[in-house]
Amino acid sequence: MVIQGIEPTTIAKLRERLLGWYARNQRDLPWRRSRDPYAIWVSEIMLQQTRVAVVVERYQAFMMRFPTLLSLALAPEQAVLALWSGLGYYRRARMLHKAAQFVAGQCRGTLPTTAEELRVLPGIGAYTAAAIASIAHGERVAVVDGNVERVLCRLQGWEMGSRVGGAALRRKIEALAAELVDPLRPGDFNQALMELGATVCSPRNPRCQMCPLATDCSTRGEHKTTPKPRMLSQEVAYALSVRTGRRPGLTHREVLLQQRPASQTVMPGLWELPALSEAAVPEQALHMTLRHAIMQVNYYVRIRVVFEEEIEALTVAGGERRWVPLNEANEMALTGLTRKVLIRAHLLPTVSPDAIAPPAEVEVV
Ligand code: SF4
Repeated sequence: MVIQGIEPTTIAKLRERLLGWYARNQRDLPWRRSRDPYAIWVSEIMLQQTRVAVVVERYQAFMMRFPTLLSLALAPEQAVLALWSGLGYYRRARMLHKAAQFVAGQCRGTLPTTAEELRVLPGIGAYTAAAIASIAHGERVAVVDGNVERVLCRLQGWEMGSRVGGAALRRKIEALAAELVDPLRPGDFNQALMELGATVCSPRNPRCQMCPLATDCSTRGEHKTTPKPRMLSQEVAYALSVRTGRRPGLTHREVLLQQRPASQTVMPGLWELPALSEAAVPEQALHMTLRHAIMQVNYYVRIRVVFEEEIEALTVAGGERRWVPLNEANEMALTGLTRKVLIRAHLLPTVSPDAIAPPAEVEVV
């Protein structure tokens, strides 16, 4: 069945079914308990390219430390990056911080209310602006993320992922989303469509038998998509150097960290373990191996325990180095990989398990 351009009564029924399903099945996520535009903004930025389970944990810590836009604007950048550690894509944190400073300085500390005005702020694109405006202020504007794209393409039987005609498809999806959004409850409608894509109409094995839109759907299952490019792989190795702290009368452990130069295009200013000059690590010196994915690259990582006197000979110089007490390291802006290694080595506390309690029928993605 083709939805676009059909009877308003059919669209009204679709909205009703979707909103009813959402009322019964939505996950209890911390940002859904608030209509505060700042809280919604933080959650939407965190949710870009990061799994919900990871965001829940970091969001709560972030909001405890920066409960208001002003508290974020006044914080040093390193403190913001430290709270972002583990979420990846640190440019988002920098832009969020800059935008908070802009609003504090230029807009008397209050976020604009319309999607059009919000888009003027640094780091706020069409998606985030629409999410804030519809959820916090009830503006009738559609939110289109990857989940919404997938649901709408399946409803219409449109092929996704092809570069050829990609812009035209995007325009069709946006037009359809704008037509469907509920004029009375745009925020709930947008969240419901995103939730459906995240929990029922998943990329693989969609649960069509549980879908409130199944009767309107042309596909009812996985639809045709252009395959994504394969992941690349790269081998890297890092030094894990730990020593007992040397402050008089105080015993504590310190780890050697190195700051990535500000000139780096990827994660500038973040702290990490020093890189080894050789990716190959002798078996007797190997402490752990792990895989870490960043965008299209799988990094196969070897970690070698390096004694203080070996550091110069075994590692690559570059960036400021410091011996950092472990409790201090936990508060620093570490790269995601460094934090993962220190947690697995039991040098930093483990992040507590996922705090979400999803309804029994849905899977958290
Ligand atoms: S019926 Fe299946 S494919 Fe269609 S929207 Fe629902 S879950 Fe997705």
